[in-house]
Amino acid sequence: STLPNPAAPKVTVVGTGYLGATHAICMAVLGFDVLGVDVDERKVAQLRAGKVPFFEPGLPEKLDRAMATGRLHFTTDFDEAAAFGDVHFVCVGTPQATDSSAAELKYVHAAFASLASRIDRKALLVGKSTVPIGTAARLTGMVQGLSPAGPELELAWNPEFLREGFAVEDTLHPDRLVFGVASEWAESQLRRIFHPLLADGTPLIVTDLATAELVKVAANSFLATKISFINAMAEVCEATGADVSLLARALSLDTRIGGRFLKPGLGFGGGCLPKDIRAFKHRAEELGVGQAVRFLGEVDSINNRRRTRSVDLIRELAGGTLSGVKVAALGAAFKPNSDDVRDAPALDVARLLYLEGASVTVYDPEANPNAHRTYPDLDYVGSLAEAVRHADVVALLTEWDEFREADPQDLGALVAHRRIFDGRHALNPDHYTAHGWEYRALGRPYQP
Ligand code: NAD
Repeated sequence: STLPNPAAPKVTVVGTGYLGATHAICMAVLGFDVLGVDVDERKVAQLRAGKVPFFEPGLPEKLDRAMATGRLHFTTDFDEAAAFGDVHFVCVGTPQATDSSAAELKYVHAAFASLASRIDRKALLVGKSTVPIGTAARLTGMVQGLSPAGPELELAWNPEFLREGFAVEDTLHPDRLVFGVASEWAESQLRRIFHPLLADGTPLIVTDLATAELVKVAANSFLATKISFINAMAEVCEATGADVSLLARALSLDTRIGGRFLKPGLGFGGGCLPKDIRAFKHRAEELGVGQAVRFLGEVDSINNRRRTRSVDLIRELAGGTLSGVKVAALGAAFKPNSDDVRDAPALDVARLLYLEGASVTVYDPEANPNAHRTYPDLDYVGSLAEAVRHADVVALLTEWDEFREADPQDLGALVAHRRIFDGRHALNPDHYTAHGWEYRALGRPYQP
């Protein structure tokens, strides 16, 4: 591995959640001295002990490697962080506010203020969190006012595009880097930090602060729109007997359209897409350009209607009522290869079924603990077999490989009734119907 270069900037990463922990670990793997900072003592203790506090494929191995180099440390102490870092990345959460669809910025403000008030020399603060347009410009004034270093403390924005489930790959080999900067010095600092990726040929776009903020929410808006577009077509299919899976395949072969994110199903969720499009719409309204992104409200509604429509199909499968029906809910995470249940469509459907009187047994290969914390009322079990045993309806809600690869004959031997709802178009219907299953999916015709 690389020898520490005494001239290399020292890096702090403030906020060690999904984004920050990954960033801190990968920066250390790239050869930097890194200090991760969080206010959550439990999280810091886990990371210090060499344990990743969430499920992310490949990240535990990278943490082991980074810890072994002695270049990666964690703290809750902002004095230590301010003294240590030349470049400080801020990766704290920006969830949806509790009383509106705006982004909650109190964690971002607290993190920047905690650092700025302690930094007394030339340094760069780099925001990575997803924020409303204009935040970085506003924070610049705030941090320079708070810092003993005054205007020597500069601010840049470097939005993050990593996907949970592919976080390591996306951090070390991103599609592109975006540097939102206000000075050449800030750009040169970021170029030094990301040199290993730039030398690899990663495309770089250097922008002003506002454009960098906008790239992130625009990208998420586009992806959400593509998903809701095909799900809107699924609604049309449901009214006409057309088949959205064939439609999606036919559309995807048009190279101008492409197949990625054109997957019909239960829709998007997670800690980013839903809250980012809502916050963007809210911010655009504040800026007087609400009309330009009014369609994002439709994107959100289409997405939410898939959840209630799923409940309708499961109720139909159960024979018209959910009361007392035993449903096996396969999956809770918002997508496979993640344990993240923030705004998860799977867990939302499980909850709606429960509220209608179904007895819901949830199994997710990784997300059961997080799901249990979110909805303790549901019944959680530790295996696929336990979940489906005596089930009246099986509902596939998150497309983990374990569910895709399950054998319809083996599953059929466990259930009370061979009825399956495929919320993710993840199964081969012929496979299931050949073994006597009633198969239903969103946007697909049904022949009893
Ligand atoms: P997270 O909730 O997993 O992590 C946030 C962390 O910040 C927590 O550990 C919390 O304890 C810590 N924190 C809060 N206030 C703090 C403070 N004042 N000082 C230090 N630490 C503090 O959230 P996340 O999923 O990692 O998202 C972080 C940001 O990155 C959000 O803006 C999100 O939109 C954006 N983002 C996330 C992803 C993703 O896939 N998760 C991808 C791209 C961008």
